[in-house]
Amino acid sequence: MGVLQREETAEQRWSRFSPIVTGDDYIDSLREREIELFLFGERVADPVDHPVIRPSINALARSYELALEDPELASAHSPLTGERVNRFLHLVESPQDLVMKNRMQRKMGQLTGTCFQRCAGLDTVSVLHSITYDIDAKHGTEYHARYLRFMEQAQRNNIILGAGMTDPKGDRSKRPHQQADPDLFMRVTRRTDDGLYVTGAKAHMTGGWNSHWICVMPTMNLGPNDKDYAVVGLVPADAHGMTFIYGRQSCDARALEAGDIDKGNATYGGQEVLAVFDDVFIPWEHVLMDGEYEFAQEMVSRFTSYHRASYVCKTGLGDVMVGAAASIAEQNGAEAASHIKDKLVEMTHLNETIYSSAIASSHEASQLESGIWMNDPMLANVCKHNVTRFPYEISRLAQDLAGGIMVTLPSDADFESDHTGPMLEKYLQGATDHSVEDRRRILRLIENMTLGRNAVGYLTESLHGAGSPQAQRIQILRGMDVETKKDYARKLAGIRREDGRTVLIDTLAAE
Ligand code: SF4
Ligand code: FE
Repeated sequence: MGVLQREETAEQRWSRFSPIVTGDDYIDSLREREIELFLFGERVADPVDHPVIRPSINALARSYELALEDPELASAHSPLTGERVNRFLHLVESPQDLVMKNRMQRKMGQLTGTCFQRCAGLDTVSVLHSITYDIDAKHGTEYHARYLRFMEQAQRNNIILGAGMTDPKGDRSKRPHQQADPDLFMRVTRRTDDGLYVTGAKAHMTGGWNSHWICVMPTMNLGPNDKDYAVVGLVPADAHGMTFIYGRQSCDARALEAGDIDKGNATYGGQEVLAVFDDVFIPWEHVLMDGEYEFAQEMVSRFTSYHRASYVCKTGLGDVMVGAAASIAEQNGAEAASHIKDKLVEMTHLNETIYSSAIASSHEASQLESGIWMNDPMLANVCKHNVTRFPYEISRLAQDLAGGIMVTLPSDADFESDHTGPMLEKYLQGATDHSVEDRRRILRLIENMTLGRNAVGYLTESLHGAGSPQAQRIQILRGMDVETKKDYARKLAGIRREDGRTVLIDTLAAE
């Protein structure tokens, strides 16, 4: 890819991409882009091979490999291209497509043990199908056709699309247009014959630098005074005016050390960035909302229906946790104890409870006006709410089985030392049919997922990603229809409310 000129047309932008097939193709596609990316206070010259960043790229690369290894699971036939495309770019044509998506997400979690960063983009694609259709129906705009043209190119080139949704929000008591600094929510700064310009930032972006394109969209409901904030646009990650600032993760500096053991999971990791947009141009062809503020709330709400069920991803990580906990019990010679088995059962029960709510939400999907299918919102919110709690309990149990050695284990360098190495080998031996190194590797993996770099993906992202717990409780409150449920209860109890009074009904009479 070459250097982007500021006001390129949509065609010029696509001409700089070529189809990606393998994981290596994807990794190569990120090289030679001129993007401002900052980490530890410095501009990163070679992000692809940077030890802190590379694991997040590897996780995305795995999604390309999975599509080749298991096309049934991770690819699907596209009506747009007439060919099979990666399922992470597939438009949802049935509830079964959503079920397959969930299965793929669980598999990706099992394979990477981290956030593989590709689902927020997929869920954005799903939302845009219906929202652009609905805006066109009301306003006579042409967003849906633009969207379909973009998606055809996206599928043909097999790109990564990142979702830029969360604005920094500033003073939470104020609307976007009331903020002291107008850029605290992304906004349109000017419009020309060729397109519009946006300024602002998107926070907590999952992936971001390692995406090819970013879809910016509103983060919450907007009013008539917020029209300039009601913008949806597709932006190449290397667009002129973009700056990425890499999020720090606990224990990230271990990536800079030699050896792989202390990293816990040396291959895969997540990426979270603050993406800053300084007067970034978007050609009209890539603008999918401009001023239709009344659709912002519905867009966010549909996004959450998809994305809260996508948190089924954490069941794949949960599978890794159960496996790690069972392995350390075996290495400690404790696997036969009944309380150990019971803890593994408890972990599995919690993990499968998450899976049940996600998969049920997909099976119970409904079809929207545009023809696309959307997850059942209540069950998706229940799934995500389970995810805000159960991975913490699963982690607690994994730490319980690991024992205190997980956090008192000396460094790899101490094991390598001629002086201390033999002492550690002698005194950290567990069951004799397992090596000390095997034990260290599993302990570091549990540490990685519950305290280290991938605790970002397994724990805190489980809490706050796709909306913090209260956001799901609000949705559950909205959808729980307590009045109908009161009627069920009253009827069985022999009462009915009428004009503000309670009336007895004959419970023995036939229906
Ligand atoms: Fe996908 Fe899960 Fe990461 Fe979201 S948190 S991008 S659903 S892996
Ligand atoms: Fe996420």
